[in-house]
Amino acid sequence: MTRKTRVRFAPSPTGPLHIGGVRTALYNYLFAKQRVGDFILRIEDTDSQRFVPGAEDYIINTFEWLGLKFDEGVGVGGKYGPYRQSERKDIYRKYVNQLLESGRAYIAFDTPEELEIKRKEIPNFQYDASTRDGMRNSLTLSAEEVKSLIDSGVQYVVRFKIEPNEEVVVNDLIRGEVRINSSILDDKVLWKSADQLPTYHLANIVDDHLMEITHVIRGEEWLPSAPLHVLLYRAFNWEDTMPQFAHLSLLLKPEGNGKLSKRDGDRLGFPVFPLQWIDAQGEVSSGYREAGYLPEAVINFLALLGWSAGDEELMSLERLIEVFSIEKCSKSGARFDFEKAKWFNHQYIVQKSDRELAEMFLPILIQKGFGDVSVHTVERVITLVKDRVSLLGDLWEQSYFFFQAPTEYDEKTVKKRWKEDTPKQMIELRDLLANLNDFSASNQESAVKSWIGDSGYKLGDVMNAFRLAIVGESKGPHMFDITEVIGKEETIERLNKAIENIGK
Ligand code: GLU
Repeated sequence: MTRKTRVRFAPSPTGPLHIGGVRTALYNYLFAKQRVGDFILRIEDTDSQRFVPGAEDYIINTFEWLGLKFDEGVGVGGKYGPYRQSERKDIYRKYVNQLLESGRAYIAFDTPEELEIKRKEIPNFQYDASTRDGMRNSLTLSAEEVKSLIDSGVQYVVRFKIEPNEEVVVNDLIRGEVRINSSILDDKVLWKSADQLPTYHLANIVDDHLMEITHVIRGEEWLPSAPLHVLLYRAFNWEDTMPQFAHLSLLLKPEGNGKLSKRDGDRLGFPVFPLQWIDAQGEVSSGYREAGYLPEAVINFLALLGWSAGDEELMSLERLIEVFSIEKCSKSGARFDFEKAKWFNHQYIVQKSDRELAEMFLPILIQKGFGDVSVHTVERVITLVKDRVSLLGDLWEQSYFFFQAPTEYDEKTVKKRWKEDTPKQMIELRDLLANLNDFSASNQESAVKSWIGDSGYKLGDVMNAFRLAIVGESKGPHMFDITEVIGKEETIERLNKAIENIGK
């Protein structure tokens, strides 16, 4: 019987989710949705030392922003819950006991100090078939000794008893067959009495089994753990329902050497986290959302870091679901290309209606103190500037002069564009514009041009100075579009101010 596809994204809440983790989740999502399967959020929080408050909410908010919905999991519920590992202690205890009873695991009392001594004594020491006989564990101590140690409250761990010289094969959908010999593995700790909690390995396997996970798609940093996981499935007799593995390659620094880190982001000025994160010390890490990215763009560019569909680049989530293929994911790392990320964002920005963009711009305007501008005006501004915008934050940079008169004039432009006879020209221009009844861009343009023609002025001289007076520097869209939006009164006022102030 073929099973329903079920995949999980299983982050540990140890800090803000890295953008590489978001890509892992996205690939899980695309894979599941293509097969009409389930996408599950499981929080792997059994390492209490690394737990960071707020990290779980951060994860949930990230996927809400991106619009990637979980079918089950923390924050959603579902019949395989609880989905937070810290709430599944009793379940793990039961499976640890099962391994102890079947002789596939054993109890070990060695203290950290004792282990340290062994490490000094034996070069490349590892706790395994070749050394476990010389250690303090339930294989070397009598049953009575073990019982009395436990009864007297001595702390212990449960270790997986790995048989040496077994061939372990991991079938990876991206990397093909990976074979190793079990002798290289150590007897991993599966459970600790001190906190009554399993380690990552045990919890991960038990949950994947109980939650009927069919495919494990995760970062390549977990590939070294995969043989151990295969052996755990074998020890539990769950091999028939063992998930298929797919280990994704790393996201690399833009230069291509090494894993993309927060420091690369700081160094090159781009976020490596989906949302802004403020840590306990108050240090701020920037996020894609706050940097002015649209979720659709983030999804699109992340999907193409390590996977491609030929030449097709601009793809909606629906299209990605249609064409995604895990087998086509690259084995080698994908270089992070920040310029490309911006390019994608620009494409999605220009696809939005002016109305939608106006609504996204409004909060920025409110923050700048221009909350009373009409949506209609904002929409007109958007129409004029959106081609120049890559990030939502650029909207302000490209349009502030629609909302506020210049408070100063760019020095270089003044030197270059404000000549001796400019004030006289600007006075004439002001009087001409003041007399226009129809202040549409086209009417202003024809009136101004015919005046320039009659007066023998140079078009460039007049228009450059006009722009300096209205905008404060030499930037912005078509001049008469700007003055049409700000209106006659404001135009005249700005001209007067410039005539009065520039060059004085
Ligand atoms: N908790 C692991 C992580 O933080 C999950 C690895 C896996 O998907 O098996 O990435």
